[in-house]
Amino acid sequence: MASLGRHIIVEYYDCAPEALNDVTHIEKSMEGAAEEAGATIINSTFHHFSPYGVSGVVVIEESHLAIHTWPEYGYASVDLFTCGESVDPWVSYQFLKEAFKAAHGSAVELKRGELALLTKKDFDIQQLRDEKSTDAGEPIRTRDIWFTERDDKIALSMKHNGKLYDQQSDYQRVEVYETQAYGNMLTLDGMVMTTEKDEYVYHEMITHVPILTHPNPKRVLIIGGGDGGTAREVLKHTELEEVVMVEIDEKVIEACKLHLPSIASALDDPRLNLIVDDGIKYVNEASDGSFDVVIVDSTDPVGPAEGLFSVDFYKEVYRILSTDGIMITQSESPRFNNKVFKEIYQVYRSIFGMDKVHCYLAYIPTYPTGMWSFSYSTKGSAHPLNGFDPAKSQAFSESNALSYYNGQIHAAAFALPNFVKQMIDQ
Ligand code: SAM
Repeated sequence: MASLGRHIIVEYYDCAPEALNDVTHIEKSMEGAAEEAGATIINSTFHHFSPYGVSGVVVIEESHLAIHTWPEYGYASVDLFTCGESVDPWVSYQFLKEAFKAAHGSAVELKRGELALLTKKDFDIQQLRDEKSTDAGEPIRTRDIWFTERDDKIALSMKHNGKLYDQQSDYQRVEVYETQAYGNMLTLDGMVMTTEKDEYVYHEMITHVPILTHPNPKRVLIIGGGDGGTAREVLKHTELEEVVMVEIDEKVIEACKLHLPSIASALDDPRLNLIVDDGIKYVNEASDGSFDVVIVDSTDPVGPAEGLFSVDFYKEVYRILSTDGIMITQSESPRFNNKVFKEIYQVYRSIFGMDKVHCYLAYIPTYPTGMWSFSYSTKGSAHPLNGFDPAKSQAFSESNALSYYNGQIHAAAFALPNFVKQMIDQ
């Protein structure tokens, strides 16, 4: 053996883009390529980035296999690095070419650590090696697989055990991951929508603040909210006469019923009128003054939800609100989406009036920056603090065993930091 290692630098071209964006498939293929070549796997770590692309490494006793993918080009770059004679990296090369359906590949082999250029150092092996192995002497195999939501400046990564649901609907890519820290998690087009461990913050704050401050709420409309969390909380208000929910994507409902049952628990409640349709169309066709509270529980202003952030839509919501009607929207993160945040508050004020629009905050660990905002706009006399009865809120919170919302949090949520006040007042 003239060198310590063999390093094959590989380029795979015209691969199947879906294969290069499927982290579970890539992980299995890379591990399969290692085992097929006779290697012993110690650890595998894979990251898949939103909106696309995967990077990962399989550490083997005989060194490593690494990959970076560009699904948008159907291209993958791979490093196959092996030490010793027992593993043939070219077997891995062929295995992966088939796994990624590469039309063609190119590879160059480098000898790494030419022995002729090396002199052995005198050091005590025993003192250096830590025994990460089973009693039988087998290396302990570990696996890390990460989901990462990122924009060009910040990212949030979560370790998970794989994907439970993955469907491309007519509107978006609907995925559910089994995360290790936050339970099952729904993402749409690679963006975190809700997780089992912190969903209650969002769902309790988007529902109880308006319903407990409306003078006499009877009819509530939810736009979006396909995970069911908002409907679950709204239906805790037993005095309501009608609750309508209009969700555009039945795949979201299906995914959440299957894999997030604690959130989707109310989607089959007979008191819920669940309609699968475009919320914009539903609002345009609804009668004047027909709802007391309209909750817009939408995704970010992209894809099917873009129209839910438009002046026309909000004007229509204003029209269908009753005299003291309240519109609540998730209004993004003041820190993360400050441009959208500023714009929508100007629009709300132009429609509802300067002193009829209020902003409140809540802290959702799996949302970008953790600081998230909700808007409270009223057509009539309803007011988030003047109409607020702390004792009634506290009693509601206790009798429903809520996890986030209570009387103090209600009041505190409207106490805004100066930078947020300045953004709204601009
Ligand atoms: N809490 C999440 C957030 O803040 O990002 C939103 C959760 S909920 C899953 C958002 C829902 O809005 C999605 O199920 C999506 O399909 C739905 N949606 C988007 N555009 C819509 C539209 N035009 N009409 C009805 N539902 C819509």
